[in-house]
Amino acid sequence: MQRASFRFYAELNDFLPPVRRARTLECRSYLPAPVKDLIESFGVPHTEVDLIVANGESVGFTYLVRDGDRISVYPVFESIDITPVLRVRPQPLRETRFVLDAHLGRLAGYLRMAGFDTLYRNDASDEELAAISKNERRILLTRDRGLLKRSAVTHGCYVRETNARSQLEEVLRRFDLSGRLAPFTRCLRCNQRLAAVAKDEVAERLPPQASRYYEEFWQCAGCGKIYWQGSHYRRMSRFLERIQQAVSPS
Ligand SMILES: [Zn+2]
Repeated sequence: MQRASFRFYAELNDFLPPVRRARTLECRSYLPAPVKDLIESFGVPHTEVDLIVANGESVGFTYLVRDGDRISVYPVFESIDITPVLRVRPQPLRETRFVLDAHLGRLAGYLRMAGFDTLYRNDASDEELAAISKNERRILLTRDRGLLKRSAVTHGCYVRETNARSQLEEVLRRFDLSGRLAPFTRCLRCNQRLAAVAKDEVAERLPPQASRYYEEFWQCAGCGKIYWQGSHYRRMSRFLERIQQAVSPS
């Protein structure tokens, strides 16, 4: 057995047991071994890692760790502009789009409400989620570390918060999206875009209350669901305003 030392930075420490956080850890293993495998042996999913420094130089996931190496591991800086050559991951996604695992249904609704392209199905398997993330270049949001360890997942994000509202704030902060909200532009049911529609085109399908009190309507291009600015809309507008204030850089 040989030894290498590892140090994990910032929120990567969340994946370590409390006694192992923010300190240099010794890794005893048969070396050389790929740095990606050794990082994951500590419980840190590779999708959370953006920068690996071995003995003072940035290296990729395939770097073979040797006896005596000093390895520093830094978290995903999707929102911070660090020099592209230092990144171990593929190019960041241009348009921030998401796919969520089955346990994040409420967060999916909130992201759609805020206007982000968000795929969610409560019956998708881990294989399907990994494939969708890869093929459609969507960031996979999950609280399942095992899912993030799949090698097909290059853009994944471990959601730390458990409450949906806090999760929304976490995701908006993490990907620096406070200025990118486009509230009520997407269907909450199917994720397609909404378009304005004339009242008389949808009049037959409106409940009497909506027909009596509202003049402006929007319709989903996908499932046809009709939206108007009722009490739910007003409540949700205030909710999103507060979220936006909370996550905006001061
Ligand atoms: Zn729809």
